[in-house]
Amino acid sequence: RKRNPGQTEFIQAVQEVAQDIFDFIEDKEEYHEAQILRRIAEPDRVISFRVCWEDDNHCVRVQRGWRVQNNNAIGPYKGGLRFHESVNESILKFLAFEQTFKNSLTGLPMGGAKGGSNFNPKGKSEAEIMRFCQSFMTELYRHIGPDTDVPAGDIGVGGREIGYMFGQYKRITNRWEGVLTGKGLEYGGSQMRPEATGYGAVYFLQNMLKQKDEAIEGKTAVISGAGNVATHAAEKIAQLGGKVLTLSDTDGFIHDPDGIDQEKIDWVKHLKNVRRGRISDYADHFTNATFHAGKRPWDVTCDLALPCATQNELDEENARELVDNGVMAVSEGANMPTTLEGVKVFHDAKILYGPGKAANAGGVAVSGLEMSQNAERVSWNHERLGDMLTDLMGDIHDKCVKYGDQGDGYIDYVKGANIAGFKKVADAMLAFGVV
Ligand code: NDP
Repeated sequence: RKRNPGQTEFIQAVQEVAQDIFDFIEDKEEYHEAQILRRIAEPDRVISFRVCWEDDNHCVRVQRGWRVQNNNAIGPYKGGLRFHESVNESILKFLAFEQTFKNSLTGLPMGGAKGGSNFNPKGKSEAEIMRFCQSFMTELYRHIGPDTDVPAGDIGVGGREIGYMFGQYKRITNRWEGVLTGKGLEYGGSQMRPEATGYGAVYFLQNMLKQKDEAIEGKTAVISGAGNVATHAAEKIAQLGGKVLTLSDTDGFIHDPDGIDQEKIDWVKHLKNVRRGRISDYADHFTNATFHAGKRPWDVTCDLALPCATQNELDEENARELVDNGVMAVSEGANMPTTLEGVKVFHDAKILYGPGKAANAGGVAVSGLEMSQNAERVSWNHERLGDMLTDLMGDIHDKCVKYGDQGDGYIDYVKGANIAGFKKVADAMLAFGVV
């Protein structure tokens, strides 16, 4: 706390990991001597820079940009860019720290990083978004590269923003190289990347349910968010015979007791990606659906819950509501959506609980496969990548079980993910000596 004053999200993320790691390394002298946990929790570097751009009224706007390169022990830094007014150093440090464990869990050679800006894309014109992205990349380009650091998308950064940033990188460097992932299919993107995080979170859920001889078919699901992760999680739940009841955005949530099927999900994707509208429009368009302003969906009775919007969107009270209403499993599409107190409620109730660093790792895993395809100058087909994603999520699940099995039939997926993710990075760092 003294070293990171005011950085509450970062301290929360480290605290969650530290307890599990302390237990694991208790009798392992080599990790203590080398101060490995302390070193992983201190980013390699935090790059902070000014981003100037001109709005449509020719007013100069000034924003802050960051890239937090947390750890590159097992591969080039890798992690998304977030454009949201709430972005600050604490949030990016927590995300870069989590990313280090998540990337390790995928089994692919990727280190952990995160970046972004406090730029608010809402209400901005296409031209303004383009100018901002170009300005952001004009500084960022000198810190990244296909063997150094490979950013991707996150909240507020989708295909459109990646396109503008990739174009600017190429213009400045005169090099076509796989420096960003989440690219369009026309210029080096990977099949399955847009779907990967949401689908992956559902595959992880499927694997957890299998432990109890249960399946998604016939179950009701409550999902938060209405962006990339949420809509693809909803799509996969619907494909597997589940019934999605809710979606949300910063304004509130919609509840559709008839279920949000593929046609409705396509409508939401168009609303969010093309019309850039609000989720409240859903209730005006589909009869029987209701909009709940300023609320989160966690008091809606369901079998499955998938928080897919943002950090700390599910607190202790929300977790209690879910458990009291009989939730069977929670799979996190977002990063750290549940507060520490909320996680404790899930643990105490012994429900199936898949933390984001494991459950949402499908996105970065397919990003890793996008890097491989770019390096080889090939593109694999949708089916092959779909199979690889399914296998990767199964492997991640098994690693969590290996280190999280409590021996009494309960699997602590948080502990499993923390230890499995930590071990690989820590062993690599030990091999390097004190650097
Ligand atoms: P998007 O920008 O596509 O969507 C984010 C959604 O969450 C939007 O519906 C947004 O609402 C809502 N949201 C954002 N902030 C808040 C808030 N403070 N309160 C309530 N709702 C909010 O982002 P993604 O879907 O890509 O990301 C969602 C989560 O998944 C994030 O935690 C991200 O870090 C994580 N993640 C994403 C990956 C990816 O591949 N994209 C990979 C792994 C994790 P609104 O429309 O009002 O802004």
